[in-house]
Amino acid sequence: MNLENVPAPRSTKAQAQGCRCEVRNVEPQDYAKWPNWLTRGCHLHDATWLAARHGRT
Ligand SMILES: [Zn+2]
Repeated sequence: MNLENVPAPRSTKAQAQGCRCEVRNVEPQDYAKWPNWLTRGCHLHDATWLAARHGRT
């Protein structure tokens, strides 16, 4: 699976895999790929975890 195939935050598919992203309001952006979401702590979308899994961000 590559990064392009990761389902969008909080999509039905992502939630089925345990996505726990929160909608971003005024907080700093976590990850440019999903600018409207706080991805930290989500095992699908957290940038650090993605980098470890996919070798890039
Ligand atoms: Zn997520």
